[in-house]
Amino acid sequence: MKPPILYIVVPCYNEEEVLPVTSGLFREKLRSLTEKGRIAEESRVLFVNDGSKDRTWEIICGLSRQDEHFQGIAQSRNRGHQNAVLAGLMEAMDRCDITISIDCDGQDDLDAMDKMVDAWYDGCEIVYGVRDSRETDTFFKRTTAQGFYRFLKFMGAEVVYNHADYRLMSARALREFAKFREVNLYLRGMVPLVGFRSTCVSYDRHERLAGKSHYPLRKMLGLAFDGVTSLSVKPIRMITLSGLFISLLSFIAIIWILITALTGHAVAGWASTVTIVCFIGGILTLFLGVIGEYIGKIYLEVKDRPRYIIADRTGEMADACPPER
Ligand code: UDP
Ligand code: MG
Repeated sequence: MKPPILYIVVPCYNEEEVLPVTSGLFREKLRSLTEKGRIAEESRVLFVNDGSKDRTWEIICGLSRQDEHFQGIAQSRNRGHQNAVLAGLMEAMDRCDITISIDCDGQDDLDAMDKMVDAWYDGCEIVYGVRDSRETDTFFKRTTAQGFYRFLKFMGAEVVYNHADYRLMSARALREFAKFREVNLYLRGMVPLVGFRSTCVSYDRHERLAGKSHYPLRKMLGLAFDGVTSLSVKPIRMITLSGLFISLLSFIAIIWILITALTGHAVAGWASTVTIVCFIGGILTLFLGVIGEYIGKIYLEVKDRPRYIIADRTGEMADACPPER
């Protein structure tokens, strides 16, 4: 069997500090896998510039001029990590046999790629990289991230525990994945829905080699919320259930009020009335908000806007896709 062509897909946003360091590491990984005969010489590192405002794109273009193993595409503007990864995977799909998506900050251990490729040889179409420890993350990041997975699970959105977007996907799995047309992207929740044989590979997570994280708490919360509402309708069920519960309580309260009124102990209760009105008003507003969130999602989905727009490409990526190999 001919070794597979591997594309390492790397989203980059304002990464001028770290890119010169990690690009060498990616290249080295390609070289060692090629030397071992595990992947084909035509394998590439594909950088996706996600509308960076610094010199990231110039660095990528420079790399690809020096060495054809580096290639790049640039999104027309910043669209976020998930869209950048998707753009890279979709562009790579027809040019390779397998892809591995990884962040460009050197936090994920490159040696896990060997194990991922081994798993592919064993017949897996998707291999999830799973973090072994989170010791290098700050305490805050670690606890919020763990809470995030628990919350997702509780809300009915199944994700692989401690798996970010470091994963191997075969071209076959990607072609099926491309049929998922949604614009609200939550890749780590969507990929498991593709199915096929899959497995996990664990690795140690390092510190960022340079630069700083683009995922502050605000974005993490946004991602958690997107994850839940893109993957599950459990919040709506919970609303229905609590609606039932509140109705039951009100029913009991009405009986109690009637009895008090009939037995002649009723007092003009301004406070209690206002409290109940406020309570119901608050709950209703909250519930409407959650339902509105889903309607918002539907609104975005029916518009069917493109999920990424490529504005620029380095040499090879501008060529038409290679014909059937
Ligand atoms: N990233 C991106 N677009 C964005 C934000 C981040 O492509 O709008 C990339 C970033 O360059 C990095 C990866 O996504 O390669 C993960 O980002 P980061 O390391 O900042 O997140 P963290 O690892 O701290 O969760
Ligand atoms: Mg990172």
